[in-house]
Amino acid sequence: MSATARPLQNGPTTALGEALMRRIGAAGPIGVGDFMDACLNDAQHGYYRVREPLGRDGDFITSPEVSQIFGELIGLWAVETWRAMGGPDEISLIELGPGRGTLMADALRASSLAPDFQKACSLHLVETSAPLRARQESALGSMARKISWYDTLEQIEPGPSIVIANEFFDALPIQQFVATSDGWRERCVVLGGSNAFSFGLGQTPQPLPAGAPADALEGDIFELRPAAGDVIAQLARRGAVQPMAALVIDYGHLTSACGDTLQAVRHHRAADPLSAPGETDLTAHVDFAALAGLASASGLRVWGPLDQRAFLLSLGLAQRCEHLAASACGQAAADVRAGAKRLVDPDQMGTLFKVIAITSPQALAPPALEQAWDGGGVARRSEQ
Ligand code: SAH
Repeated sequence: MSATARPLQNGPTTALGEALMRRIGAAGPIGVGDFMDACLNDAQHGYYRVREPLGRDGDFITSPEVSQIFGELIGLWAVETWRAMGGPDEISLIELGPGRGTLMADALRASSLAPDFQKACSLHLVETSAPLRARQESALGSMARKISWYDTLEQIEPGPSIVIANEFFDALPIQQFVATSDGWRERCVVLGGSNAFSFGLGQTPQPLPAGAPADALEGDIFELRPAAGDVIAQLARRGAVQPMAALVIDYGHLTSACGDTLQAVRHHRAADPLSAPGETDLTAHVDFAALAGLASASGLRVWGPLDQRAFLLSLGLAQRCEHLAASACGQAAADVRAGAKRLVDPDQMGTLFKVIAITSPQALAPPALEQAWDGGGVARRSEQ
């Protein structure tokens, strides 16, 4: 910095923030979706490209990092799902956004109870983060015969598949639209304000966003997640020709509704989504009704929904917890129980997190998710 240069007043201190300021300065406001995409996925500075987001030293913690029981039960779910498919000789076990590889390591260990499944299974990880790919390799390298990494689901060879996505969809960018007195406008990021960026409105009127309530009030925000539609389209391509079952677990809502759910987390605390671009985790609630609607419209079947509590209890969380606690002593046993409680406690992760399965059209009901679901529809403004 030269002697005359002044530090930015309350401005973005990140290199990405400065690049975004230049971009907006030159070409005008960008949509929230483009801002979120840059913050998370920018090739040089994006949050998921360069940072280690998970764990106590990171920004947030996920269910598999809370308790080994989470991944173990999902491993048993995968074995039973494979059996319900008729036990094909080869099954691709695919994980979208595997984080540190903890869920998959626990799942594979639990599935060693079914050597025939393990023999049939090949492991395919869809991950864009180089630091996390390295973590996954060290967590899983010694367990799986062969692991392959991909940037997108589309790159994986066709074949019977089981897909796991825990806290993956919430990390995909959302667009936001605002109801105004003269129609819908895209919510944008503009220059100015206490963080050098603030929210504004796009100039061009937008059509009613798909799934938005027709009786929205002025100022209401509705969110769309185009990248989730791409993932569903890829599941549909896989599921149209071969057995496919995808387990989606995330936090979100079962009915499409208005609301601003964009949130930033840094070092386990809520942060301003516009501050420190590239250095905070940005996520937004998953609209399960929208996912289910897209999946059904592409010919797939949707099962559930259950909340995480009901799903894990139905797979045997309480029994597994007692078994583990009985073989531990003192503090270790208390930690096992505390971890399991955190996963299912309604005040913690038990009810905010929802579970659905999306399967190929001919599939039988997957374990614990016996109800077919045709989506939660759209909440009228007056019902929210
Ligand atoms: N499933 C893990 C991690 C959740 S965090 C767990 O439960 O612990 C989100 C994960 O998705 C990270 O691994 C992140 O790097 C990955 N991710 C985010 N956006 C992605 C994208 N567009 N394509 C592939 N992976 C992505």
